[in-house]
Amino acid sequence: MKIKISLLLLVLCLFCLTVSSCFKWAARAHDKLPDQTALNKSYTYKGKVIIIGAGAAGLAAAKVLEQNNIDYTILEASDRYGGRLKKNMTLADFPIDIGAEWIHSAPIVLNKMKGKAGDQIDEELIPYHLEETYNWDGEKYEKVSQSQNDFMYNFLPESKFKNSTWYDFVNENIAATVKHKIQFNSPVSEINYSDDKVQVKTKNGEVHSADKVLVTVSIGVLKSNHIKFIPDLSKERKDAINAVEFLPGFKLVMKFTEKFYPDAINCKVKSGEKVFYDIAFKKEAQSNILGLLVAGNSVEEYYKLNSEEEIVKSAIAELDNIFNGKASKTYTGEYVLENWGQHQFTMGTWTKAFLHKKSELKTLNKPLDKKVYFAGEINDTYQQMGVPGAVLSGYHSIDRLLTKE
Ligand SMILES: Cc1cc2nc3c(=O)[nH]c(=O)nc-3n(C[C@H](O)[C@H](O)[C@H](O)COP(=O)(O)OP(=O)(O)OC[C@H]3O[C@@H](n4cnc5c(N)ncnc54)[C@H](O)[C@@H]3O)c2cc1C
Repeated sequence: MKIKISLLLLVLCLFCLTVSSCFKWAARAHDKLPDQTALNKSYTYKGKVIIIGAGAAGLAAAKVLEQNNIDYTILEASDRYGGRLKKNMTLADFPIDIGAEWIHSAPIVLNKMKGKAGDQIDEELIPYHLEETYNWDGEKYEKVSQSQNDFMYNFLPESKFKNSTWYDFVNENIAATVKHKIQFNSPVSEINYSDDKVQVKTKNGEVHSADKVLVTVSIGVLKSNHIKFIPDLSKERKDAINAVEFLPGFKLVMKFTEKFYPDAINCKVKSGEKVFYDIAFKKEAQSNILGLLVAGNSVEEYYKLNSEEEIVKSAIAELDNIFNGKASKTYTGEYVLENWGQHQFTMGTWTKAFLHKKSELKTLNKPLDKKVYFAGEINDTYQQMGVPGAVLSGYHSIDRLLTKE
């Protein structure tokens, strides 16, 4: 009897935990947006600012500086801007997001990101309301009921850009006015904030000086200690950085001559996620493009394979297993694979700030000596997650840098 009661209590606790994190998830999507961002304000700051990283957060912060004629430079480690936003134009008859793809938040977030008033959005979106999905556990391939698909959509109504991408959105609305200020191939290796001016060193041996610095590299890059801080970061901050879960993972995009697959196949994994999905869903495209998104523990089995080609082979073999050899018969041999988890300037896929302890998030957002500030998806105080979270964090952190503290 005692065991039964304990079991019942355990189930009840698990249920409450699930429900409370679900509520957090749903709340994040809708009610947390700011009325105004730094885009709607004006600033008279006279110092020099360096932004480290030209991803969504860094570009957004730069847009505010550009608007206010403030002196700034963006130091970007790679030879391109966008960070975890990237698009491919060659594989299909529509542009494909190789990084971020879905709009997890309510569409009005797009206006907030652009600084546009009102709730009428300009972009054409596809509601991501799936109609044909399956579960796959390695042996059984089972259809998910339509009521489950409906529930998922109603609970968290996501969408995708119809003829465009997240990369295009950020490129056109944010990067366009600031890209001339990016210094590419400049991986920052040291930030010294012990004097009045902050000294920023790059791996190429250059030293840049500024009054204030905004760091927007991913939490994976901060975890990897590629950037040395002088003075060193506090133990509290290091602990907060290490507490953030930043799953390794990759996106593989494959082209087929026939569409033999459903909207999505959710694969059973111990943790994280693994899903095959129709990237052309409702795109009115001719190309048959299937994605494989893997994040978390199950990525390890792919990372043990020796090459990209072996990863593709393994994905095709799994599909053949489900679809009786149909995948290899219809595969065109064309693919794009982006291994975000092992990319030295990313070191992971995404974070879910809204699931972390408030105290840790606060620590991550604290500036260092009123000189070094932080922005990026994990620094989002509006709990939007992903690209909106990164952009809004850019606006929020640059406002703090230019005004208070
Ligand atoms: C496969 C995948 C799928 C995703 N799907 C979605 C989705 O559907 N919807 C969504 O909203 N979000 C999604 N995300 C998350 C989203 O892409 C990120 O939240 C967002 O792009 C993060 O932007 P950021 O500016 O914070 O960081 P980043 O994009 O990581 O930008 C950081 C920049 O800093 C640069 N950098 C790194 N180290 C240094 C250094 N030492 N010196 C100088 N520069 C440096 C990097 O090169 C990069 O340009 C996905 C991410 C991945 C990887």
